[in-house]
Amino acid sequence: MKYVEERKQIVEYGKKLLEEKLTTGTGGNISIFIREDQVMLITPSGIPYPEITEKDIVLLNLDGEILEGNRKPSSEYDMHRIFYQNTDHVNSVVHTHSEYATVFACLHEEILPLHYIIGSVGNKIRCCEYKTFGTYELAEEVFNCIGNDKGLLLGNHGVIAVGEDLASSFSVAKDIEFIAKLYYRARNIGNPVLLSEDDLEKVIEKFDTYGQLRTYGQK
Ligand code: 13P
Ligand code: ZN
Repeated sequence: MKYVEERKQIVEYGKKLLEEKLTTGTGGNISIFIREDQVMLITPSGIPYPEITEKDIVLLNLDGEILEGNRKPSSEYDMHRIFYQNTDHVNSVVHTHSEYATVFACLHEEILPLHYIIGSVGNKIRCCEYKTFGTYELAEEVFNCIGNDKGLLLGNHGVIAVGEDLASSFSVAKDIEFIAKLYYRARNIGNPVLLSEDDLEKVIEKFDTYGQLRTYGQK
């Protein structure tokens, strides 16, 4: 079996989707792109996350042909592979049905910048039109709508998050739900004060040096 480490990571993050309440049942899906070999690994369709093991993860090429695995791949594999075919920076896609974000997706309402963490996604979280799940039309709609953002609401459906690796795409999916929850709650009792584009530019710059990636004081 090829790419055992990547398969393990997908299985682990599938369980995290449930633990972090980012999806229920068999909703959502996860993939990783192995750029050097131009192949992708994706969760199987319709299997509950706690039951998925490494061998259930399906290995596909970018034409959608199965290279390894006995399971049917996620019905949304087009929505994942469209990013791997057309970008040089996305190496992982996470799709969820997280509750608060999906409320706004059902309203076709974008989420405005009420909290600085939105900078990890974009200047706001936009929403694309409804298309039937598991279709190429949905994949195209999502890809055309997301622009340079890292996440998007899918009309009457859920959320997509993309990143350089699985830790990043998962973290964007989590941030989207966090912000959606704040937006929902803030709107219930008032009108949130929004951040300006200038505020967000500064946040994005700060994210570059946030945490322990560099020695403190170094650029
Ligand atoms: P799969 O189980 O086929 O991945 O589908 C779940 C889903 O969320 C469809 O949009
Ligand atoms: Zn879905």
